[in-house]
Amino acid sequence: MGILSKFKKGLQKGSALLQGAFDKVSRRQSISENDLFDIEEALYGSDFGPETTEAIVDEIKKSFREDKEFRGSDAREVARKVLSDALAGSEGRYTPSSNGDSEVICLIGVNGSGKTTTCAKLGHRYVQEGKKVTLAACDTFRAAATEQLKAWAQRLDLDITSGHHGADSAAVAFDAYASALAKNTDVLLIDTAGRLHVKDNLMDELTKLKRVLQKKSPQAPQHSWLVMDGSTGVNGLSQAKVFHEKFGLTGLVVTKLDGTSKGGALVSIYRELKLPIFYIGLGEQPDDLQPFSVDSYLESILPRQMESVLP
Ligand code: GDP
Repeated sequence: MGILSKFKKGLQKGSALLQGAFDKVSRRQSISENDLFDIEEALYGSDFGPETTEAIVDEIKKSFREDKEFRGSDAREVARKVLSDALAGSEGRYTPSSNGDSEVICLIGVNGSGKTTTCAKLGHRYVQEGKKVTLAACDTFRAAATEQLKAWAQRLDLDITSGHHGADSAAVAFDAYASALAKNTDVLLIDTAGRLHVKDNLMDELTKLKRVLQKKSPQAPQHSWLVMDGSTGVNGLSQAKVFHEKFGLTGLVVTKLDGTSKGGALVSIYRELKLPIFYIGLGEQPDDLQPFSVDSYLESILPRQMESVLP
């Protein structure tokens, strides 16, 4: 399946409300207050947030006022333009180098956001790209996390370093890094603990983990990506800011976009955090993690071609 088909399939639920509203308006010669209200409601309902919602509604009103030829079907293009402006600069791109210098990627986020699954999916992706990968199971706090990552590693034939439940996660990270360097691994993927961020000891633990990695190489970790559950909409934003402050994030992975009707959350998240989105999670299978693409996102959430116009 191509990338666009994966995006479309994954974002089916998340785009339904919005497409419904724009399809309805597309059949009109003109745009009424009621149509604008429907669009506004659909945008809010899809979690695009107040700023994006108002920008789209205002732009449609403005275009309608200024252009006598403006038809209902033109509203879609106006919305797509506002969304693509809001997402300018949001595409993160990463390809591990093949020189065996063990670049480190830390996956950070609250419990249940999808870190462990993302760690396995990324490992799978990079191995398929011909890279040498090591996973580090550093969520030693959540009882099942290490077992879960080990099971993934076994299933996908990935190299892994782990510790026992309750072990010092920084010590596991240190060992994993040493092992990755010794094996000339290209990329080391670290799954970290995610119990509630408000507990200072998690932040202390994460900063310790970072310090310990930096003992081996001051540049590590080269990437620190926050894994956010897109299906909870914008609820995780305040937590995200704390992680960013304490850990210094370099990007985002937005997961579970396949399970939500709030496809707009991604725009709100990017607007708020302004961190590049490297990947999005569109399912539970190993290859359901896709590099984020604004074009594919827009084509899925609000396609240029109308797909369900009634006669
Ligand atoms: P962690 O606590 O952050 O390590 O979260 P997990 O990796 O254990 O994920 C929590 C749950 O979310 C698991 O049941 C995963 O299978 C599921 N999950 C993770 N990513 C996705 C995704 O992109 N789509 C869907 N539908 N489920 C996901």
